[in-house]
Order: sequence, then C-alpha cells, then structure tokens
Amino acid sequence: MSNLILIENGSVIDGTGRAPFAASVLVHGDVIVAVGPQANERAAQAADVTHVDATGMTVMPGLIDAHCHLSFDDAESNPEIFHQRRNALSALVASYNAKKLLRAGVTGILDPDSVHENTVDLRDAIEAGVVDGPRIACGCYALITGVGGTGGRLIADEGVTGYYKVVQGKDQIVAEVRRQIKVGADWIKVHVSGVVPRYAYRGEQCSWMQEELDLICQVAHDMGVPVMGHCRGAEPIYRAAKAGMDLIVHGTDMDERGMELLLDRKIPVCPAFTFQANMVDFGHRLGTDPGLLKLFERQIINSAESMRKLHAAGVPLLTGSEAGFSIVPYGLWHYREMEVFTRYYGMTNLQAIQCATQHGAIALKMEGKVGTISAGMKADILCIDGDPSTQIEVLGEPDRLKHVFLGGRAIDLSPLPERKPISGWKYPTIGRRLSREVMQGRAS
Ligand SMILES: [Zn+2]
Repeated sequence: MSNLILIENGSVIDGTGRAPFAASVLVHGDVIVAVGPQANERAAQAADVTHVDATGMTVMPGLIDAHCHLSFDDAESNPEIFHQRRNALSALVASYNAKKLLRAGVTGILDPDSVHENTVDLRDAIEAGVVDGPRIACGCYALITGVGGTGGRLIADEGVTGYYKVVQGKDQIVAEVRRQIKVGADWIKVHVSGVVPRYAYRGEQCSWMQEELDLICQVAHDMGVPVMGHCRGAEPIYRAAKAGMDLIVHGTDMDERGMELLLDRKIPVCPAFTFQANMVDFGHRLGTDPGLLKLFERQIINSAESMRKLHAAGVPLLTGSEAGFSIVPYGLWHYREMEVFTRYYGMTNLQAIQCATQHGAIALKMEGKVGTISAGMKADILCIDGDPSTQIEVLGEPDRLKHVFLGGRAIDLSPLPERKPISGWKYPTIGRRLSREVMQGRAS
C-alpha cells in the first residue's frame, strides 16, 4: 500500500453525533488529512494512491472500549484470576486476545487493572510494534484498602492478590501511587467500593475515608496522571467525585449529592453494563440463578434515570464491555454497550456511537486526536457493510466488518489460528451438586 489511502463511495459516520453523509476519506501516513470533496481533489493530484471502495458501507471511527481487562482471559471466577494467571503467560495470552479486539473493530481500550500489572508491558510492546493490538491506556494494580474489593476473603490482607493491591495508611498510599506512575500507569485505578461478605445485604460500600481518596488524587494529579474509581453506591460516587477523580466506573445507585458533583465537574462515567445485559439476556442459557438475573436487570434499570440526566447535561458516557470474563468474551461484545445505551438510556444510535468513539478518546487520554473522522485525527477507521445509524447491532456482526485501519495501517482480518487449552490455566469444575432430583433427571 502506498502512503495515501482514499476510502471512497462510503457513507461517513464521523463520531460526533452528526448524521451520516456521503464523503471520501483521505489518509496520509497515520492521520486523516481530508474528508469530502477535498479528499478526492487531493487524491487526484497524487501519483500513488491506494483506493478502497466503500460502496454500500459505513466509514466510521474505530471503537474504543473504555473498560476491558486484557489479562483476565475470559475468566469464569475470581479465584481463576487471583491464582491461576501466571505473569509472562497471561501477557502472551493477552496479546493473542488483543488481536481479537482488532478483528472486532476495537482500535483502542482502557485496561484499568491487570494481573501482575502486565498490561503495561503489553501496551509498550504494541507501541513498539513488537506485537499487534489496539491502542492501550492502562492502570497497574487496582488500589484497595484492607476491607477488600469485590472478592471478600479471597483477597489477602496485604500486598497483591491478582489485580488488586492493598494499601494501608497515608505512607503506603503515597508510595504505591508514585510507584505505579514510575512503572508507567496511564491511570490510577481505585476500587472505591467493595462488598463485605458479612454485610453483603448492604451492597457495595465505600471502603475509603475521604482524606485517603483526596490523597490519591493529590499525588496522582501532581504528576499529571488521572484517577478512575470503581464506584457502586451513592457514598462511593460522592466521595470519588469530591476527591477529584477523573472517571467514574459503574456509577450505580447515584444520589443527588453525587449527581450534582458529576454534573458540575462534567466527570465522565463508564457504566460498563454489558456484563449485566448479557446476564439478563442470556443467563437463562448459562444456568445463572434467576434471582441474580433480576438483580442485574434492576441495576441497569435503576441507573437509567441518572445516566439519562448526565447524558442530557453533556457529561460524557463511555462504553465499556468488561471483557475479561467468560460472559463477555473478547472480540464479541465490545459493541454491545451501545445497544444498552440505546435500549435503556434512550440514546439514538448516533449518540451511542459518539460515546464509543469521540468520547472514548477520553479513556485513551487522546481527546481531539482520535475518535472522529475528520482532518488531523489519527486514522483509526472501520468500514462496515450496513448502517449502524439505523441498526446498531451490525457493529457486532463480524462478517460485516470489511476493513479496519489502525493509524492508517490496514489490519489483517483473517481468522486467528485456533487456541488450544493451556495446562493449569482454568479451574476445572466438578459440576453442580448431584442431588437425587438431578440423579433422577427431575431437576432442570
Ligand atoms: Zn472491570
């Protein structure tokens, strides 16, 4: 391919929420240099142009998944992530999975935390061209207090468990945030809320004092590094926002106080409801407890009003798949949060696409550089057979994805070689309890 690529005859969804329009897109090197008639004129004057015919296709920015755990490898349980993921091997496996993302049109992700914090290394390897994968912004270990995150007693009282690190007291907080910045964190990730098994009926609770969260933000911001908080519950959201966090993840059960701060400071929110939405729609096929299905659906519905309000007021909502768990396998569900946004939050398809592209750039810390189809932007471009502005689900159909460009480079979309099982990687399960009803075939 020459240095100039003209993508012509397509319908452009530029990622800003604007309606689709017929236009050519001219790429030079790794950037888009012209859109519309100018693109054709400049291409006509050039000697060596590669033409990509996008007749019948939509030309749009690559998807940005603002919540994707590349090192978890479709885990089926917390113990698997905490204890089965070897460092080098999980990084190698993550690099395989990263290619699945590219083949699903995902050209950028925010990986908030990883086992052995090895997404940092994968990111650097991708940036150096050692392996192929999307643009990555990442955190190191998720910070938690001694109370833990969402793994209860599975998490050790101190040190690292899986992708978590316990920090106790001011000195450890300061030292760990600085260490993470040194090793290359793009974001500091804080598990602001967690479940205490004994008090699980209260839901997730805030496990940090306000001063501690303030301190994290102060140390990180001093070094120009943003902070993101996993927050479920009114108090965690409020305290995280008050501390000055730059991104709220989940954001369920928000109250007026939290809402006011988010509106006031325009703090982006990444609900990452694909996990729950998949449970709700497909859990019955996976043997998920019916009570759990109701709980998950309620989580989505209960937060719909606050998400609508935030969106209406111009607070960016980001799309996150929570890929890394078996219910949201890599490469399959990255588009789905857009479906959630349209179905539950009343967004138009174009608004949802804007969340997954232009707003997604916030997660990559590349606002104004990536996420829209316009001159001067990085050439992260998809060509889709179909019109996502009327049918968002076409973005989840692999056969419709005809071209992916990452920084102007055409991605090989041929299927990956099949993976075989890795010894000691998954927890083998014995299966469910063999009751008399099951034995006699009377239990469903
Ligand atoms: Zn997550």
